[in-house]
Amino acid sequence: MFSYRHAFHAGNHADVLKHTVLIATVQYLTQKEAALTVLDTHGGAGLYRLDGDYASKSGEAEEGVLRLAAAKEAELAPVLQDYLQMVRRFNQGNAIRNYPGSPFITQALLRGHDRLKAFELHPTDMRSLTGNMAQLEVRRQVAILHEDGFEGVKKFLPPPSRRALLLCDPSYELKTDYGRVLDMAADGLKRFPTGTYAVWYPIIPRPEAHDLPKRLKTMATKAGKSWLHATLTVKSNKTSERGGLPASGMFLINPPFNLKDQLKPAMPQLVKLLGQDSNAGFTLESGG
Ligand code: SAM
Repeated sequence: MFSYRHAFHAGNHADVLKHTVLIATVQYLTQKEAALTVLDTHGGAGLYRLDGDYASKSGEAEEGVLRLAAAKEAELAPVLQDYLQMVRRFNQGNAIRNYPGSPFITQALLRGHDRLKAFELHPTDMRSLTGNMAQLEVRRQVAILHEDGFEGVKKFLPPPSRRALLLCDPSYELKTDYGRVLDMAADGLKRFPTGTYAVWYPIIPRPEAHDLPKRLKTMATKAGKSWLHATLTVKSNKTSERGGLPASGMFLINPPFNLKDQLKPAMPQLVKLLGQDSNAGFTLESGG
């Protein structure tokens, strides 16, 4: 059984990047009237306590969402303001104690006729996600599936309304996850070439992690699709005192056309606010 628990990492710098991109993408895709289906291949527990045992132990949110929340909100790029406002929806008053995961963020942005299918394989997180979501009474809109997300998405592609976002956010605990992401993206593009595919990945000294965005770029280019690649580094992977992830990236195929422009002012602000040493930086590239 997997030992990865997202509760340790909720609200860290990687979540800030991933969820900022997720919010901007869902906001864009819900502008057209036609129904949107969001497929979340790795849902997690859905809601996290930042003052609970897991998060307090790791302290990762303090170096992520909580640093951002301490900044002057009005001076932040609009996508970062949207991100903070989303997190605040799950909190009362000024203090941020709760953190929403991707299924909750997505659900909060969907309209009545949009749909969310979230997959989660770990029994404990599955129970948490189901229990947390049950409180919202959104049974018609949200399906939570205790299945392998890489395989499970296939039956939903293409979606009836021909509009979908697939978020793929594995823990990469298994080395095979990197290859499975690529297979899933290739298969998804065959089944549903116009879908938006968003992949999160860790930037760590491992050949598979290094190759993943390159292979996604080649795949998108060969298929004649547009792509966007954003990375955020907060510290060197060598001098990390407390361990923890130094950097991560989001790779999108068929991204919203305005996403790059929205991220342009946000990325340097993230570097300034979340950077932990002189290695902090970002990249933002697109093509197709
Ligand atoms: N997407 C979530 C968010 O942004 O809030 C966080 C997801 S977390 C990084 C990865 C989750 O995937 C873990 O909860 C893990 O139990 C689950 N998981 C691992 N392998 C899986 C698989 N093959 N299919 C579905 N879920 C899986």
